[in-house]
Amino acid sequence: MAFFSNPELHGHEQVVFTNDPESGLKAIIAIHNTSLGPALGGCRVWNYTNGEEALRDVLRLSEGMTYKSALAGLNLGGGKAVIVGDPKVVANETTFRAFGRLVDSLGGRYITAEDVNTTPRMLEWVRDETPYVVGLPRELGGSGDPSPFTAYGVFLGMQAALKKVTGNESLAGRKIALQGLGHVGVNLLKNLVKAGAEVIVTDISEEKVKQTLKDYPGVISCPPDEIYSQDVDIFAPCALGAVLNDQTIPQLKCSIVAGSANNQLDDYEKHGKMLMERGILYAPDYAINAGGVINVYGEFEIYSEKRSYQRCDHIYEILLQIFELSEKENIPTMDAANRLAEERIRKVGRLKQMHRAGTPLWRVKR
Ligand code: NAD
Repeated sequence: MAFFSNPELHGHEQVVFTNDPESGLKAIIAIHNTSLGPALGGCRVWNYTNGEEALRDVLRLSEGMTYKSALAGLNLGGGKAVIVGDPKVVANETTFRAFGRLVDSLGGRYITAEDVNTTPRMLEWVRDETPYVVGLPRELGGSGDPSPFTAYGVFLGMQAALKKVTGNESLAGRKIALQGLGHVGVNLLKNLVKAGAEVIVTDISEEKVKQTLKDYPGVISCPPDEIYSQDVDIFAPCALGAVLNDQTIPQLKCSIVAGSANNQLDDYEKHGKMLMERGILYAPDYAINAGGVINVYGEFEIYSEKRSYQRCDHIYEILLQIFELSEKENIPTMDAANRLAEERIRKVGRLKQMHRAGTPLWRVKR
């Protein structure tokens, strides 16, 4: 009974649990919404302390995917999977093939992909059991590393934010504080340096910072905890979630926050408002970091890198729409993004009938 009255479950279409002692698979798949198409979202492996924590995570993440794909203009719904356990222990063929069979049993309503602690090798095992998996390396027939596309989308989002704030979208001579030199961060840095921006970087890995300063002689660095207070135009969080919080927002000297990290606002309502009150334009995370899912979407057609980049170009327009709506309605940008995503689901949601009655998207793939 507690399960059915769980407010966090409100709105999800289907939640599938498995606890299979034979394969060692303990997993939850949450399908939030398939109004626009099959539910797509990665599979996260995490050592959750209990089942409730795992359920909360998968419910939240799957809902997030519905909004991300809807806003990006994709014909995809939102879903997510979590495998519960120590990543080192569950990273084996038996567990992942059992997970693949679970995904397959949903007949394409849920399509899985990489997420925290999953690797291309694990996805290969999943693919041995089901066609409903995307994002494999190119040499294995997938669309490969999504990070360059995510970085490109963030770059365009920065341009849109600059256009809104200054009237000039050019990054030449702009100062950027970049947090995180991982897959997205280094690709973004390349774009920023090419565009003539002045970049100050940080990472908890000294090795990565050292290498970056060697590769880009004009770039400077600062200690991780000093990145928030840099006197810059844009702060770009490309490392962790929850970095916009009670401690960091008062330190910001930038006029724009635009980066790839997921769930940047520690408290979505409170910190979205706080940024707005401080006059800092926030590019909503799931709108600006959609390049990765946009690229993977190409696998449902004959994959073309060029087409993926063209689709990413829309991120610029989408962010401008968000900023306009936020200003017009005097609401935080995250609320504006949510409204636009919900509006698209409402207006185009009839596609659900087409997918069910006609050829589902995933059939076009293989
Ligand atoms: P990554 O793991 O390759 O890189 C993250 C980097 O952040 C690492 O270099 C790490 O050392 C650094 N880091 C961690 N904690 C830090 C801290 N406190 N201060 C400074 N640096 C710190 O991850 P990624 O693929 O580059 O993704 C970056 C962010 O963007 C993540 O939040 C991810 O969820 C999000 N994202 C990524 C993609 C993608 O295409 N890769 C798509 C959408 C969203």
